[in-house]
Amino acid sequence: MRLTDLAHLIVRKAVKPGDWAIDATVGNGHDTAMLADAVGPTGRVFGFDVQLAAITATAQRVEAFQNVTLIHDGHERMIELLPAAAAGRIAAVMFNLGYLPGGQKTIITRTESTLAALDAALQLVRVGGVITVALYCGHPGGAEEAEAVRQFAKCLPHQFFLTDHSSQGTKGLAPELLAIERINAENTAHF
Ligand code: SAM
Repeated sequence: MRLTDLAHLIVRKAVKPGDWAIDATVGNGHDTAMLADAVGPTGRVFGFDVQLAAITATAQRVEAFQNVTLIHDGHERMIELLPAAAAGRIAAVMFNLGYLPGGQKTIITRTESTLAALDAALQLVRVGGVITVALYCGHPGGAEEAEAVRQFAKCLPHQFFLTDHSSQGTKGLAPELLAIERINAENTAHF
């Protein structure tokens, strides 16, 4: 199974109609469209990207959905940019790191902002919700970012549970998938 399909499978198990979800890296909008379908017309998806080309491509892909808010800004600012009601209400946050396929390979996710966004996602996700992170090592800076995310994920607070799907056969430069599930309720952000 492709890693992106596995991420969709994991997220669809956590997301119910009416939920709120976040695509932290919308890119060409494949994950955003899946989330919009999963949360349904009574739910909402918030999508972030620093590239206007990605926001435009995603807007086209999800134009049939009325439940998507696209934010042309960095995912590291998600707490300040989302409605206050998002705290503890988010059923899924998807990260697909690296560069926009078919776009500029110089615009990539960066370790510092990725870790800040992951920290924010931990604060927003509800009990039973999940954060997925697709990691890529093949581009300059990718291996360092992937290692920093692995280390971050190894030191999660006790209310989270990590599943490392990369141990199931992917090695070296192959993409990897981490899934972080919130298993209990302490320390949800209030803002
Ligand atoms: N999930 C996307 C899809 O389905 O097509 C692919 C995402 S692509 C691998 C990574 C995206 O992250 C790029 O579009 C890039 O512009 C975006 N990005 C880089 N830094 C970012 C940041 N700080 N905040 C939000 N998006 C960022």
